[in-house]
Amino acid sequence: MADLPSDCIFCGIIEGKISAKVVYQDEKVMAFEDIKPIAPVHILIVPRKHIPDLTKTTAEDVDVLGHIQWVAAEIARQQGIAERGFKLVNNCRADGGQVIYHLHYHLIGGKLLKYIV
Ligand code: AMP
Ligand code: ZN
Repeated sequence: MADLPSDCIFCGIIEGKISAKVVYQDEKVMAFEDIKPIAPVHILIVPRKHIPDLTKTTAEDVDVLGHIQWVAAEIARQQGIAERGFKLVNNCRADGGQVIYHLHYHLIGGKLLKYIV
């Protein structure tokens, strides 16, 4: 529930202070395995920039938001789940069930996932 980067678990992973199983990284994003996977493939894609949640994005963030969608597809191809498909989920704030306040997208696949919406 960190609002400041110094308290933020995902900033800690990005800075290399907290270990994670990194599956992809570039100048804009990092992607690593979720510590409590709910499916055979469960990866978190996070911008390197600390943005607390989707409601805090600005027009300047459009580039990284679009980039995340491409990275999700790229990781899905690498992980072998592109053909059968997957879910790409952002939990936004309290009603969305967000726990960690550093913007992230869950890439989930490798099994048939329940219909949510
Ligand atoms: P959310 O509810 O969208 O905020 O989800 C946060 C996710 O972060 C959960 O699926 C957690 O299992 C995951 N998580 C928490 N701590 C870590 C960590 N140190 N490394 C990887 N994933 C984590
Ligand atoms: Zn952060």
